[in-house]
Amino acid sequence: TIKNNYETNIAYYDDKLLKRTLEERRVISEFEGAIEKKEFKMFLQPQVNTHGKAYGAEALVRWQHPERGLLSPFFFIDILETTGLIYKLDMYMWECAAAKLSEWKKKGDTVHYISVNISTKDFYLIDVYEVITSIVKKYDIEPKMLKLEITETALMSDLKKNMEVIKSLRDYGFKIEIDDFGSGYSSLNMLKDISADVLKIDMAFLRATENEVKGQDILETIISLGGKLGMEVITEGVETDKQLIMLTEMGCHIFQGYYFSKPIPVEEFEQKYMNE
Ligand code: C2E
Ligand code: MG
Ligand code: MG
Ligand code: MG
Repeated sequence: TIKNNYETNIAYYDDKLLKRTLEERRVISEFEGAIEKKEFKMFLQPQVNTHGKAYGAEALVRWQHPERGLLSPFFFIDILETTGLIYKLDMYMWECAAAKLSEWKKKGDTVHYISVNISTKDFYLIDVYEVITSIVKKYDIEPKMLKLEITETALMSDLKKNMEVIKSLRDYGFKIEIDDFGSGYSSLNMLKDISADVLKIDMAFLRATENEVKGQDILETIISLGGKLGMEVITEGVETDKQLIMLTEMGCHIFQGYYFSKPIPVEEFEQKYMNE
């Protein structure tokens, strides 16, 4: 009957909500300890040219949980963002990247960069400029080796203030990547106001070339727009050689995606991409 259906839905909803609440509590209560015990691991996903040679890599966090195994950011980033804890994880990751770059620099490698993610919330929670500049001083690395990935949503959330922070960071020598470009609102308007170095196209545009007639035209137009504005263009989510060929023809020359490599542990990245 209708009544039963209704009750089943409520029960299902309650159950999901309860699960979510418990999950949140678990993440929150375990988080600080996990940072101290170094359970968060920096994985690297190469950003490559057509031949698979790496210019650098994006740092993507994984939680090596003692009971639950390797957890993807899907399980905890949202929770850390809503609870205002995210900056602790991000600062930890920025520092991991800087430490690794400093080690590479000592070995004579000044070719490869690492891109780190900055959450929207970080701008409200900490002085991003102060923190990041202190980190590069502490590890004695070139700011241009540490690239900063910021989503357009983060930029848009408080455009005027964030623009100033971005400008100071750029003046200091950091490279700014706009992440997930096209997935938020007012994308084109934002490009007018923000000066960035790299445009990373949201993978939804690449997916849309498969079944939507206009998809290819849109993707090609974004690639050429990025070029016209003097930015490097990266396409994320490249999974097939067909996509690679199409993107190359469209004028994109830097790629990140499973076709080349998934995010991998640092040692594996070093073995595969740095001894060429
Ligand atoms: P993102 O920064 O846009 O990172 C790209 C995501 O796409 C990564 O997911 C990557 O593994 C995935 N990806 C790359 N190539 C392919 C592909 O060919 N196919 C498919 N299906 N996926 C691909 P991941 O590692 O699960 O990270 C998800 C999101 O979590 C990231 O999106 C980023 O927003 C966030 N994140 C990861 N690490 C950090 C961090 O240290 N700090 C913050 N604030 N956010 C992070
Ligand atoms: Mg990113
Ligand atoms: Mg992205
Ligand atoms: Mg994303």
